[in-house]
Amino acid sequence: MERKRCLISDTEIYDLIIVGGGPGGLTAGLYAMRAALKTVLIEKGAPGGQMALSDEVENWPGTERITNAELSMKFAQHAQSYGLEILSQEVVAVNPGLDYHSVHLANETLLKAYAVIIGTGGNPRKLNIPGEKEYYGKGVSYCGVCDGFFFKNKTVLVVGGGDTAMEEALYLSKLAKHVYITHRRDAFRASMILQERVKAECKIEVFWNTILTAIKANEEGVCSVSLQDTLTGEKRNLPTDGVFIFIGFDPNNQLVPAGIKMNADGYVITDEKCETNISGIFVVGDLREKYAKQIVISAADGSTAALAAAHYVENQKAEAACVLPEG
Ligand code: NAP
Repeated sequence: MERKRCLISDTEIYDLIIVGGGPGGLTAGLYAMRAALKTVLIEKGAPGGQMALSDEVENWPGTERITNAELSMKFAQHAQSYGLEILSQEVVAVNPGLDYHSVHLANETLLKAYAVIIGTGGNPRKLNIPGEKEYYGKGVSYCGVCDGFFFKNKTVLVVGGGDTAMEEALYLSKLAKHVYITHRRDAFRASMILQERVKAECKIEVFWNTILTAIKANEEGVCSVSLQDTLTGEKRNLPTDGVFIFIGFDPNNQLVPAGIKMNADGYVITDEKCETNISGIFVVGDLREKYAKQIVISAADGSTAALAAAHYVENQKAEAACVLPEG
């Protein structure tokens, strides 16, 4: 006999659970509330995700300049003004089901929802060189806004040639006495406008074709780095008080359920609705495979996924209306 599905009591189940409070998750929350979905957003840290960790945003349309922390707060307040529930908890697993999906929290609570949106972003990529792990927090950092203050009038070194490295080097140049950038090639991949600003900043000095091979410290923290020229192989020591590493990041895909398709780099493959190959599970923001990582793109993902989730939940509820076998 054909399997019959029963409607789960509305008091037991959310329409939508959003995992992650970055720009994708918070925008999804805003759109979900406006679509009258019973929604909870779960975030283990402060709202904003990676967005909250850097300095200023200059490319959020309609706002020429805003601090990332302020933009994060505005995203959260906007969604909450429509009644979004934000739970400060850690999610440990997302388990797909036929009628509903389950979200397990670290405090052993089990939540259920017809649809789940995962927007857990990524983590800074590591160089994996001697001294990096050992001196993290003692001069090694992945966040200029968080740690730049400790390097006021000191010398710091930035690793990387992308947008993040440029933005962070410019930010650090406002505080530090001198900023070195080491890049493994002879050209940055960052956008031209940022490259021009870096070139115009007299406090910033670039070492091209250069890699870091070790970070050294004394009792006060980081004191120097070992550099190697990638063309000549020449090695040298450079004194510095801090090392800021911005070489991209790895997607946070630990909560992505088994069976969901990912690419070779660990980014989740979705369709144009941001839906994965498992119905009712959506992925937004930097965790999703796409051309570029931008706040505006994550936000767009969030709205797309929430609108698609609303449609999905409506269909699920209609389909699940209990039909008892005849006789
Ligand atoms: P990214 O664009 O991937 O750049 C990473 C940089 O680190 C590259 O220059 C890369 O060198 C270098 N690198 C990677 N692995 C390395 C290693 N093991 N050793 C030394 N160098 C290494 O990463 P991102 O700068 O974090 O940016 C990520 C995304 O966010 C990008 O799409 C970016 O456009 C976007 N973003 C945008 C803005 C903005 O628009 N305001 C701000 C920040 C980030 P190669 O160039 O040789 O590969």
